[in-house]
Amino acid sequence: MNVAVVGGGYSGCLAALLLAEQGHRVDLYEAGDALGGILRDAVLPQGRFFPGCQYINIDPVLMALVDTVEGTTLQRFDHRYGSWNDLFGAVRVHHDFAQPVVPGPLGALQPVAEGEQDTLGGRLAAYEARVAGPLTAWAARHGAPDALAAQNAAALQVGRVFYADDAAAMQQAKQQDDRADRLYGLPRSHFDPPRPLQQAALPLDGFDAFIQALQTALQRRGVQIHLQAPVKPLPGADGRIQLQLRQQPIAADAVVWCANPTALLQRLGGERLQSPALRCVNLFARLEGRAPEAPVYYQAFGATHPLLRLFCYGGERPRITVEALDEAWPLADLVAAAEQVLHDLGWDLRLADASLQPQLRYSLLTTHDLHCIERFGRQAARQGIITGGWQHYGRDPRLHHIFAEMAAAGLA
Ligand SMILES: Cc1cc2nc3c(=O)[nH]c(=O)nc-3n(C[C@H](O)[C@H](O)[C@H](O)COP(=O)(O)OP(=O)(O)OC[C@H]3O[C@@H](n4cnc5c(N)ncnc54)[C@H](O)[C@@H]3O)c2cc1C
Repeated sequence: MNVAVVGGGYSGCLAALLLAEQGHRVDLYEAGDALGGILRDAVLPQGRFFPGCQYINIDPVLMALVDTVEGTTLQRFDHRYGSWNDLFGAVRVHHDFAQPVVPGPLGALQPVAEGEQDTLGGRLAAYEARVAGPLTAWAARHGAPDALAAQNAAALQVGRVFYADDAAAMQQAKQQDDRADRLYGLPRSHFDPPRPLQQAALPLDGFDAFIQALQTALQRRGVQIHLQAPVKPLPGADGRIQLQLRQQPIAADAVVWCANPTALLQRLGGERLQSPALRCVNLFARLEGRAPEAPVYYQAFGATHPLLRLFCYGGERPRITVEALDEAWPLADLVAAAEQVLHDLGWDLRLADASLQPQLRYSLLTTHDLHCIERFGRQAARQGIITGGWQHYGRDPRLHHIFAEMAAAGLA
């Protein structure tokens, strides 16, 4: 079959690779100058940086595909992470739990209220008031918790909390009650038997080199790559999707849409997405001092600062990417906040040659958009469209969704 893949980010590249492996004729359309989408490196005078805290998980299906790509230098390492928060008073640090750690005794969950399954606000309101209050105030800095869908809890890393001072009671509550099991989390070491550290991977020489290897692999498999090719979706006379590039129709038996869904849903589904944009900044710097040897990230939940994630990597040339909410903090203040967090984590590290880049993120989903995407998903196959799994957070669940739809359409 002739398949058009729209969007040359990680999802589109892997979808095109799988389709080519299955013997289809594939055209990959990317609006920008290069493949890679959100993964592309930040290339600055002081070095090359990861654009955010983005790991490649060792998902067996996806890694089997990535492993067919010649010439990638993915470094595998133990996936270490932790958290820092001052939401509940004094600073709490944990070296094996990347969600909020709550001090003091385990409190009772609130009675189940309407909205717990639907909205982020409803989900956070399930905790006792002294936990729900600060968590909801923190989440509200991202967007209105009662308008955001409940699954944003995963994107914001607030899907579970850990009462570190009362772990045994929490463990018991988790065993006795499904709801408590969903809302409370444990570090890997607290499971019985303890869960092993999983492996993750990163390209040693940056994502751009990895994407370049992917591009070469795609071309070797006959995929036609079209850069600077912003494709327009239109309804065709037969109700199926018709793609256009610069007013010219594109012939395709099936379309895999791995790009932003806004135009697609509007033109083919009559749905107007809210698509909330989250204004963030990335802080890039060299690290001076004894940095961790393998990549590691810490999630930050600050009542007093806008830092979100601190991602240290780079081995012998240690670097850091700090993701933060754009709350107009000056660079020097963000650097000081990051150094303080690193100090609290037990590392004596300084940030050198720091610089900031703004980033607009479209990673949050309102309940309105979720319903639109689900409605559209039910009709898309009839229109010849494989959808990008935008209702899921994270690249692996999205890719599994895309691959499942491709399989259902007889493409994979
Ligand atoms: C800071 C940050 C951290 C993240 N961390 C993680 C993480 O740890 N784990 C995880 O799983 N996920 C994470 N995510 C989410 C993850 O990055 C994304 O789910 C995934 O990388 C996006 O890949 P994609 O190919 O779907 O989209 P994108 O990378 O956005 O690529 C879409 C491409 O489509 C192109 N395009 C758009 N419109 C058109 C058009 N009309 N025609 C042609 N091309 C078009 C764009 O130019 C772009 O290149 C993170 C996201 C951010 C922002």
